[in-house]
Amino acid sequence: MLRRLIKRTIGSAALAPFARGRTRQSLLHRVNVVYLHYVGEDRPYYSDFYLGTTLDQLDDDLRRLKEHFAFCSLAQVVGATTEIELDGKPLLALTFDDGFDLVRNGAIEVLDAHGVSATTFVVTSTLDNANLMWRNKLSAIRALCPESVLVGHYNALMMKAGLPVAQSGRAAMHASESWPTNRKEELVDQLWAACGMPPLAEFLDQHRPYFTREELRQWLTRGHGVGLHTHSHPRCSELLGEAVMAEIVEPGLSLKQELDLDFLPLSYPFGVRLKPEIELDLWEQGLFDCVFGIGGFAPRGTPPLRLERACMEGDYRYEVFGRAFVGRPRATATKLPPGRPVSAPKRDRPSESRPLGAAREDPEIPGPRARCRSVR
Ligand SMILES: [Zn+2]
Repeated sequence: MLRRLIKRTIGSAALAPFARGRTRQSLLHRVNVVYLHYVGEDRPYYSDFYLGTTLDQLDDDLRRLKEHFAFCSLAQVVGATTEIELDGKPLLALTFDDGFDLVRNGAIEVLDAHGVSATTFVVTSTLDNANLMWRNKLSAIRALCPESVLVGHYNALMMKAGLPVAQSGRAAMHASESWPTNRKEELVDQLWAACGMPPLAEFLDQHRPYFTREELRQWLTRGHGVGLHTHSHPRCSELLGEAVMAEIVEPGLSLKQELDLDFLPLSYPFGVRLKPEIELDLWEQGLFDCVFGIGGFAPRGTPPLRLERACMEGDYRYEVFGRAFVGRPRATATKLPPGRPVSAPKRDRPSESRPLGAAREDPEIPGPRARCRSVR
């Protein structure tokens, strides 16, 4: 509670007249990327995480952020190799996690009205609404099943699985984050059935929460980007060998080929990274152009495989402005004339052309072995 109050105070202070200059200066020296998830009215599959990002709220948020930032595509923001301002403002890229539909629900119209090019990070097992991602299944169960019934079935399942029980639906949601990642599908599907939820295909047909492949093509045609958020939303720190292939490498290659992508970013579910040696090995394969956690804006100069993003849901003033305000400001940025486009990152070779373990050659992109500056 106190922590929240302090953050709210810092977030507000960061934009006060006495602080604005320092905040802006700090933001000029960071790779500014924000993330959202679902846009629209509250729905069972997102109730547990919903913070009120309706279309109107998105419209308001973009208008407010444009007072302080110049929106650019993710490729442009990541590719800006020096501290840059555009139209007198630091750059900002907008991203969406979990692959929720942004075409049918009208979010794309809001983005286009603001001239914002956004990137959606998809969970490939849910494309075409073929499945409901496990966290969304748990949210739907909690929204539609009486709490006592949910907790009873949850605890029976946990005892059978040798995992901790929970005292409430909220505690069960929290505890389920620690399920062994290779058991999440089996456990959530058993809970779905035990709680008497409707047949999954029926639920998916009714709600259609995610992008279809066809809609992703429309999204790309209209100037937006696509990245990978893994195949099934695991905790990546637990992935080894074949699981890394199945969750990240194979779906990344498929997305790239199917959608003819020449820039492919990766965002980690929960912001939880692969083990460092596995992450480095993945980076050296050259499939991804940049990789994101959720630790707030990274300092410019951070290697692209160690980038971070800030949350833009709810009261985001601390995440977006407050952290920058309390961070250390640096030297003046390079100024570009108003309206001048920022160059996108240099194209790296196709991933297939670089053998496993070979180093990246592009001198403009800091190598994976370069030391990462601390990320707040
Ligand atoms: Zn996610």
